[in-house]
Amino acid sequence: MEHKTTQDTPWFRGAARSRRRSAARGLSMKSQATPVKPDAPASSAADTIKRVYLLDEGNKDMKMLLGGKGANLCEMAKLELPVPPAFIITTETCLEYFREGTGNLPAALDFEEQLKALEDDTGKKFGNPQNPLLVSVRSGAPASMPGMMDTVLNLGLNDEIVQGIIDTTGNERFAYDTYRRFLNMYSDVVMDLDKEPFEEVISEIKKKKGIKLDLEMEASDWKEVVGEFKKLNPNVPTDPREQLRGAILAVFRSWNNDRAIRYRSYNGIPDAWGTAVSVQAMAYGNMNDGCGTGVAFSRNPSTGENKFFGEFLPNAAGEDVVAGIRTPQPLEEMAQKWPEVYAELFKYQGQLEKYYGDMQDIEFTVENGRLYMLQCRNGKRTAKASVKIAVDMVKEGTLTEQEALLRIPANQMDFFLHPTLDPKAEKTVIGEGLPASPGAATGKIVFTPDDAEAMANLGEDVILVRKETTPEDIHGMKSAQGVLTALGGMTSHAAVVARGMGKCCVSGCTAAEVDFRAKTLKLGEVELKEHDVITIDGSTGEVYLGTVDRRSATEDADFQTVLKWADDLRQLKVLTNADTPEQAKTARSLGAQGIGLCRSEHMFFAPERISAMRAMIVSEEKKERLEHLETMGAFQRDDIAKILEEMDGLPVTIRLLDPPLHEFLPHSLDEMQALADTVGKPLSVVQDRVAQLQEVNPMLGFRGCRLSVVYPEITEMQARAVASAAATNKKAGLDPKPEIMVPVVSTAKELRLIVPRIQAAVADELKKAGVDMDIPIGTMMELPRACQTADQIVGTEGVEFMSFGTNDLTQSVWGFSRDDAIKFIGRYQEQGLLDFDPFARIDEEGVGGLIKTALEKARAKQPGTKVGICGEHGGEPKSVHFFHSQGFDYVSCSPFRVPIARIAAGQAAAQELLKKSAGDGLYRNSITNVKRAGKKTD
Ligand code: PEP
Ligand code: MG
Repeated sequence: MEHKTTQDTPWFRGAARSRRRSAARGLSMKSQATPVKPDAPASSAADTIKRVYLLDEGNKDMKMLLGGKGANLCEMAKLELPVPPAFIITTETCLEYFREGTGNLPAALDFEEQLKALEDDTGKKFGNPQNPLLVSVRSGAPASMPGMMDTVLNLGLNDEIVQGIIDTTGNERFAYDTYRRFLNMYSDVVMDLDKEPFEEVISEIKKKKGIKLDLEMEASDWKEVVGEFKKLNPNVPTDPREQLRGAILAVFRSWNNDRAIRYRSYNGIPDAWGTAVSVQAMAYGNMNDGCGTGVAFSRNPSTGENKFFGEFLPNAAGEDVVAGIRTPQPLEEMAQKWPEVYAELFKYQGQLEKYYGDMQDIEFTVENGRLYMLQCRNGKRTAKASVKIAVDMVKEGTLTEQEALLRIPANQMDFFLHPTLDPKAEKTVIGEGLPASPGAATGKIVFTPDDAEAMANLGEDVILVRKETTPEDIHGMKSAQGVLTALGGMTSHAAVVARGMGKCCVSGCTAAEVDFRAKTLKLGEVELKEHDVITIDGSTGEVYLGTVDRRSATEDADFQTVLKWADDLRQLKVLTNADTPEQAKTARSLGAQGIGLCRSEHMFFAPERISAMRAMIVSEEKKERLEHLETMGAFQRDDIAKILEEMDGLPVTIRLLDPPLHEFLPHSLDEMQALADTVGKPLSVVQDRVAQLQEVNPMLGFRGCRLSVVYPEITEMQARAVASAAATNKKAGLDPKPEIMVPVVSTAKELRLIVPRIQAAVADELKKAGVDMDIPIGTMMELPRACQTADQIVGTEGVEFMSFGTNDLTQSVWGFSRDDAIKFIGRYQEQGLLDFDPFARIDEEGVGGLIKTALEKARAKQPGTKVGICGEHGGEPKSVHFFHSQGFDYVSCSPFRVPIARIAAGQAAAQELLKKSAGDGLYRNSITNVKRAGKKTD
């Protein structure tokens, strides 16, 4: 095969010409780039707006305007890689199209000059049968949205021009193959016709001829296909310019197709960005056996191994690789077949990877032995690959530790903490819910917590399936390998408790019909009965039929290295939300620097404890209540002592009882009778008490510090339990550091009432024990009123810290019930009303705005007040960045999210340092300065 170096290609000469032409016209890129503001009236500045860019007018930093694909094409051209000439229509023009709403291209969009440049660079003419130029029209958003939007290839063909292609290439088969591809794609993408009848035409002809492969089709066969396609859709415009306008419009429209909207909402990509459109001269991989097309990665995206990796298909177009009709060959075979082309590709991938400082995903086409680069972007990779690549690149000297740390997708890091599904295993997906708690579990399905416990005691692995879980399910959750619920969001009981236990959980699987009486689970067509086996993946939210192989992700040296980078940099402390000694131990082993939230009510979920709690609640007199409180106090003291021991030397924040009392009471008649028997009271007393405590809106009801206001004796018991546990440990030579936190505070007056009671009980207990120690008292900030009056709150005598409870704060700021919002949040996201679930990621504008107000007021009053966050957002990377930016002292999250929060906190610090260094002109020039600046001094 003939192979020319890229320097010989007419396109390179053309690119240089085009650069000169721009210079001659005085078109400096900066002076041309006048972006349209989304809300600017389109007509006002229409003539000064640059809507179309040639490749030599853009660069990699213009992703917002030219899309990722467009910006990287410009950059590859700048690096003098062989890129087919192209022009890019900006994302702003796409927004302008939507704003104008005429259904036509913006009147001011004019690409004739750039089309002419493409013609000059290729020596071909668009729409001219003598030497026709065909183009591809592709989408390209600022963030990668693989496969979500539309593309039209081989555009610029009609009956006359196809003859021109035959004349210029002498290859009739290629000409008709290309023409049929165009008719098919245009009909599908631009005119929205069904693909199937088109596919049937090809199948029929293949059947008639007794052949199977596209490669076996001859020129006359493709010609026949073209004839049939034209009958199926006689309305494809024959004017190439009309085709081009139609395709650009279709790409603009595809920004708002269902797939794209859903993808954006899952990935937090704003609807307001729009897509760019690249119009590029076609390079052909399907002309003959000297052509081909492929996809390559500069390193293995699955394992991270530093080995050029990819696949190619000879004599094929790009869409054949994607469609999977033929099995591509490994690049090694290309190296054998076309050593020079391979060597050139190999050189470019190395160059691009070094240049971008990241693993590259490359699309290329080989046309008659000549290589063309069609796309490069940072490649998607597994969690395992991402840490290996980051660590290797630091060792190789390509990246600093800070830069490498910023390449790590923090929220994928739970891969290392839980057994995960073998990606190669066969799976049958039967349902999908929210990825509530990572890991994967396989087991027999059971429908009650008692069954889960009983089966687990027999050594069986079970998955507990519930409509939703309540505190009474806790033993079942503990016994099960995993939990699947039909209702509930990311902060539902099931999700929070499962994450706390490090137990895999899929919540909010709304398609699941759970009948716990009949003990059946229906998921679409699949009906399962008790003890049928399923597998759930808490990292993706998927539910599978039967067993799926799992593998454990053990201690990984690269992962540990990445954690160390983060720890060396971060300013935020990472604490954990833990309610038991086991959780505390796990969290500490994962790097937790203390407990930011110990939900004391969780200590009463065990069966022998809940009965003491229930007896206390149904007490009719204070005296009786005090007796039961004493039993409860003993449990609590033991637990707290053990937790303090596990976290010895580190802070442990114990929160006073929060949930509404009725949550602890039994609901069924049998259970009420059992309680009545236990406490020796008539059933009617228990029933009355249950009825009395019922609430219409428990989340806004009798919970949190309101319990302390009405029943001070409960608070006193808890404060004494903390103090006496700490005193016991201290006497045993340990170093306990307990703190007490008051929940659901709305006014400083509540604290003025409660804090002195806590102080008195603590002082008394410590005095009795003969121990002198400090037990700081703080408040949760989880209601808007508390935030608005944060100065009064922190100004309250005895209040030493505040911890934002962003679960309740999100609930109360949005007015979305945290347990019910699952029913509509998905629809909000689909319709672009929400870019993300505010219960999963902090809403910086609304909830975050209120947090900022609170901080401002609090810091003005008491500058040194310790500030933390203990809602579920404490383990979510983007939220952690926000808390870092607001100067929080710590985040507190579920044990299994601790490493994620450590990495995210390190990344937030690294980002700040790199930005600062870039501002100081240090970035890249002085890696050592950045390193030094990032080191902690303490
Ligand atoms: C919160 O509301 O954010 C919080 C941590 O408390 P809980 O989830 O227990 O209500
Ligand atoms: Mg709360």
